[in-house]
Amino acid sequence: MSRLARDLTRDDVLSIAIEKGAKAFQARALVEAIFDKGLRSLERATFLPKDVRSALESDLTLAASRVVDRSVSSDGTVKFLHELTDGETIESVLIPDGDRTTLCVSSQVGCPVACVFCASGLAGVRRNLTTAEIVDQFLFARDHLDSEERGRRLTNVVVMGLGEPMLNLDNLEAALRMISRDFEFSPRRITISTSGYPDRVAALAKRALPWNLAISLHAADSKLRKDLVPTATKEPRELVAAARVWFESTGREPTFEIVLLRGENDRLADADALIALLRGEACTVNLLPWNPVAGVEPWIATPSDEVVQRFAERLERGGIKTTWRRRRGADRDAACGQLRLRHVHSRSESN
Ligand code: SAH
Ligand code: SF4
Repeated sequence: MSRLARDLTRDDVLSIAIEKGAKAFQARALVEAIFDKGLRSLERATFLPKDVRSALESDLTLAASRVVDRSVSSDGTVKFLHELTDGETIESVLIPDGDRTTLCVSSQVGCPVACVFCASGLAGVRRNLTTAEIVDQFLFARDHLDSEERGRRLTNVVVMGLGEPMLNLDNLEAALRMISRDFEFSPRRITISTSGYPDRVAALAKRALPWNLAISLHAADSKLRKDLVPTATKEPRELVAAARVWFESTGREPTFEIVLLRGENDRLADADALIALLRGEACTVNLLPWNPVAGVEPWIATPSDEVVQRFAERLERGGIKTTWRRRRGADRDAACGQLRLRHVHSRSESN
């Protein structure tokens, strides 16, 4: 059975190549092409004799996914639907914004956390992504920009696609190390977003490269937070304590994300509770007005820009650094998880 090359070690790949008839120097060139340059196609390994390339096809897969659909929104955001080698699907999203081009990657197929407002959790979780499958989203995006948008380069990577990163920490960490070290993408331009798991966050902080951390807090009040993240078992103050460990260990100031839902967590009293919880912490709050997704509870709605603005001003006056932006790409399934859901639904309808 063919294995994903970047789920193997360099030595594994070296031996496989030699076994299939490559000379030592050719096998070394292949390892370098896969692990240092990000080669995604054996066909392009023209430094190998053709028969060796053909022999390798049955043992080594370089591209962990095939992009089977894409959707482009009016602001230039491009969503890719990746089909994995077992037929499962995930999403990655490229978001151009002035000089910045941010790639949003998935960490799991679906998500088990089941936040009430999120499309990714609607169908539960199928499995974790392997290291190669996470790295592949990055390599695909890099190749895509090179071939289709010359001049644009990837400037930021956020782990904010499908899945809860802390529930696939080993593979995610290996993938981010590969991206940061082997593919020389600055760790300072990578952000991991998590819905909780303070123990894992604090443990990761001790061995992390200087990655950025975003914690999806949503509310300072424990009960309200549990209404929005029903599987949460930890208290908001435990998340804040983990964020503090992150800052102390990495020197990177964490962000708290609040998905704002109309009438649920967007009241001034909610802002005041956040101020009380976060006062004095080295952090920024990022407000995300909810992006409509189909299939969630009918009571979930987006607050008006005025309400978000008022909430932001209240936080600022309370001494909390706050950012927010108007919605992007809302015309085309902007929130993560939706392109996949549409695909999964249409597949099950046609079955
Ligand atoms: N599971 C992780 C990372 C993926 S979600 C986490 O929850 O942090 C990335 C961010 O998108 C989270 O802050 C999440 O709350 C937010 N999000 C999810 N669905 C959204 C939606 N429909 N509109 C706006 N933000 C959303
Ligand atoms: Fe999972 Fe994050 Fe969506 Fe919650 S917001 S269901 S943790 S992907």
